[in-house]
Amino acid sequence: MLKQRIILAIFLASLAANAVGVLADPGWLCLPAALLGWYVADLMSGLVHMYMDYRPCPPGKQLNDMFFYAGSRESAEYLALARDRLARINAFERLVYDFKNHHPRPDALGRRSLWRLIGSTVIVATLPLSLLLLAAQLVWSVPGWVVAGVLALLTGGAFAQFFHGSLHRAHNPWIVEMLRGARLLMTPAAHQLHHDTLQRDFATNCGWSNPLINRLFAALRARGYLGDAGLEPSS
Ligand SMILES: [Zn+2]
Ligand SMILES: [Zn+2]
Repeated sequence: MLKQRIILAIFLASLAANAVGVLADPGWLCLPAALLGWYVADLMSGLVHMYMDYRPCPPGKQLNDMFFYAGSRESAEYLALARDRLARINAFERLVYDFKNHHPRPDALGRRSLWRLIGSTVIVATLPLSLLLLAAQLVWSVPGWVVAGVLALLTGGAFAQFFHGSLHRAHNPWIVEMLRGARLLMTPAAHQLHHDTLQRDFATNCGWSNPLINRLFAALRARGYLGDAGLEPSS
């Protein structure tokens, strides 16, 4: 718990330290660069989501017992079952399972802690990249607009699953409501289009990249990829 807070604090501090580079070299290019970074983060959220939704769970692990469990998910029986099944798969496969589990039980995502939602993304990707950007700024004179673009990308990328969770939660921090009001985050109604068919609108940050991802999805389906069998675990 303390370790998680320290990692998050280091990450936020690194973002703030990087932002100094934008303030030191401001210019009109910073705004379009930041919007482009925000778009790319949205695109990545959508591509990862599309892949994870349709990537089949490993067969032979009986994850279906968990997925289709009919009783209470707080019962001792279910918790023991979940412990047993999750021990059979690796961390990445658990993430894949989580994406599928989200469809029949969308509200569970809204109840998760911030760390559970973004911890792995921060550790494996955005924290190292943020520190690299900081190191690059110390060694070279990186233009402010480049820093602005990368910062927007790192922020949108790091908080992608938190933003997705916020779409399944009635009460959100003011910053989420503010970004939604500014159209920098999508609305629950817009995200519902994904849950209605599971065949469109995979991006969950601002949704700007959904027209592009929808075309990509249609093209891949037409070629026989992303079949429905991948949406649920088999025995
Ligand atoms: Zn999905
Ligand atoms: Zn969702």
